[in-house]
Order: sequence, then structure tokens, then C-alpha cells
Amino acid sequence: MKGDLENLRQDLLEREETEGGELAEPRRAARYMMYRKFVAAGHGHLGQHIRVRIPLCVIREIRMAFPAPGCNCKGLALAECTQHGYTGHKDSLV
Ligand SMILES: [Zn+2]
Repeated sequence: MKGDLENLRQDLLEREETEGGELAEPRRAARYMMYRKFVAAGHGHLGQHIRVRIPLCVIREIRMAFPAPGCNCKGLALAECTQHGYTGHKDSLV
């Protein structure tokens, strides 16, 4: 998990350096990938319509690594932020 997150973050930072700025869509894609990895690690691959609640501490870790551009929320406020472009975090798709 942790290693995946760091590799993904490194790739993102290199890409942002090349393209010159914070990229909302790749960050969103990275968060989504990490949510999926987390759920798969805990539950295996579930059916398409099954939802799993991801703990706030995990959401916070993933958002800290891949914050939405413009979001400066910290800690629990970051995990619960709904104002800066996060989607699909509470009952993330598997
Ligand atoms: Zn925020």
C-alpha cells in the first residue's frame, strides 16, 4: 500500500514538473486507484455493485499524497472536505 502510494506520488510529481502545475485529473485518478487498491487489499475483488466504506484515516492519507489543487485542508478536515473537488470518497466504488 504505502510503497504503491509513494511510487504513484513520485510519478505524479514528475509529470507535474514537466507539465508545469497541479493537475486535477491525474490526482483524482491517483486517489481513485489508491482507494481501489485499499479495498482490494482488504476484501479481494468484490462485485460491481458492492460498496465498502473506507476509513477516514485512509482517505486522509490518500488525500495528503494527492490533494485536489486548491485544497489546503488538514487532518480530519481534509478527510471530510467536500468543497475542493473531491468525489466518490465515502462509499467508493470497488
Ligand atoms: Zn479542502
